[in-house]
Amino acid sequence: MKPHETSRVAIVGAGFTGSLTAAHLLRNAARPFEVCLIERHPPFGPGTAFKAPLPCHLLNVPAVRMSAYPDGPEHLMKWLTERASGPDPGFEVDSGGLDAAFLPRRLYGEYVEHTLSEAAERSRARLTRIVGEAVSIDPDASGAHPRIRMRDGSTIAADCAVLALGNFPPMDPLGNGAAVAAGRYAADPWDEEALEGLDSQSTVLTIGSNLTMVDIALTLDHRGHRGPIVAVSTHGLLPQPHRKNLLPAWSSRVEGRTGRPRELLRAIREDVTLASADGVDWRSVVDAIRPKIVSIWSSWPERERARFLRHARAYWEVHRHRMAPENARTIASLVEGARLRVIAGRIAGMSETRDAIEVRVKRRGAAGVETIRAARVVNCTGPGTDMRRTRDSLVQDLLARRLARPGPLGLGFDTDRDGALMGADGRPSVSLFTLGPLLKGRDWETTAIPEIRMQTEALALCLARRFVTPGAHGGSS
Ligand SMILES: Cc1cc2nc3c(=O)[nH]c(=O)nc-3n(C[C@H](O)[C@H](O)[C@H](O)COP(=O)(O)OP(=O)(O)OC[C@H]3O[C@@H](n4cnc5c(N)ncnc54)[C@H](O)[C@@H]3O)c2cc1C
Repeated sequence: MKPHETSRVAIVGAGFTGSLTAAHLLRNAARPFEVCLIERHPPFGPGTAFKAPLPCHLLNVPAVRMSAYPDGPEHLMKWLTERASGPDPGFEVDSGGLDAAFLPRRLYGEYVEHTLSEAAERSRARLTRIVGEAVSIDPDASGAHPRIRMRDGSTIAADCAVLALGNFPPMDPLGNGAAVAAGRYAADPWDEEALEGLDSQSTVLTIGSNLTMVDIALTLDHRGHRGPIVAVSTHGLLPQPHRKNLLPAWSSRVEGRTGRPRELLRAIREDVTLASADGVDWRSVVDAIRPKIVSIWSSWPERERARFLRHARAYWEVHRHRMAPENARTIASLVEGARLRVIAGRIAGMSETRDAIEVRVKRRGAAGVETIRAARVVNCTGPGTDMRRTRDSLVQDLLARRLARPGPLGLGFDTDRDGALMGADGRPSVSLFTLGPLLKGRDWETTAIPEIRMQTEALALCLARRFVTPGAHGGSS
């Protein structure tokens, strides 16, 4: 083991979160050091969200709010403008203008790749990209100098490690998905194979009716699928559409700390009434409240957070996570043409027959259970957030070795305010950090670019201050 002369920050996961943490470290490097970015499924940049293969998979935030850097939209706009003059821009802009455009997600993935490379090219620090899966992390006896073990047996030593593991596949809602023939039950809706081998007239049932279902319905439509799509979710709600043009901002009167979820909802309703009297759309109210959610959420005791999840979450999510207008039009036409049916209800069970999956559905308010036969069931219940239930090797290793513990309500990981992982003993790690979707228990509103880009900047500053000093750590083997 050869000690290195420069510091090394290891980042596991090169989706938006890991890539932007790296980009901030590289951009602000005052002295040479190394950023080691580890990704099991290259390319480095897009992650799960922005690998979406089809042009109809659009961002659900207008371009003007999607710059990788928090200080303004120019960075993305400049890249788009340069791209627009090239041979294959990969997007079209209509009369709404570039700011209001909802870009293809895969194009955005290319932008994240570009952002990372650009930061690396201009930096005093070095970026090393490592393709592979990290399966365990061993800090030394004092909790410092983590050594990351990879699936192929190699190790990487660092001064600190950032877990930017992102969005896990959805949790199995019945606990028996795996028992149903794997070929008919798609446990991971983001797996490219999820819809392979389907007859174009067959029935596809999705568990969940949020944006992941929208992606699946758009993919099926794009592929010329003509069979019924049945979406079953507890409340039977579809995401609301975005408006085509940018909306005027609203200055919300909702406080950063509210007593309880019920009071928050009342305050939002009052705000919407005030806004609409001024001719302002409810969407502007939701967007104005969103930056306050972290402080509202953290002001609630765990009991109230749980109440929010039980009673208000579904309504909040369909208003907060909206569909791009183009996608909303396609979904509306699928519903009108009876090709997409949304059922409010609960899946009571599933079983496999010779040529289908029989799904038992209990409709909301109904006494009995009906059976729907589908050729494929796709789990669209949203990213898995319960670390105890993921099968991820690295997560299981961290929990088993008491280096991490689940976050509030079992969501993500527990951390301190800097994102340092809390060990099972309740003490913050001195060398392991996380951010992005894994902070859901702590912050709730922590999954979209506008929030994550702020976190990546803050964590990079904190790491640079704490770790980027001339120091020694072990080498790689
Ligand atoms: C389908 C989808 C669409 C979205 N669309 C939008 C949108 O339009 N607008 C918006 O603002 N937000 C959107 N979001 C939310 C947000 O942008 C994402 O949550 C964000 O991109 C998350 O980035 P991430 O890097 O944390 O996670 P991910 O994109 O999940 O990336 C994590 C990466 O880590 C890698 N990894 C994990 N474990 C290991 C390991 N042990 N070893 C090596 N590599 C590992 C994975 O392979 C993956 O590439 C979307 C989210 C999803 C899931």
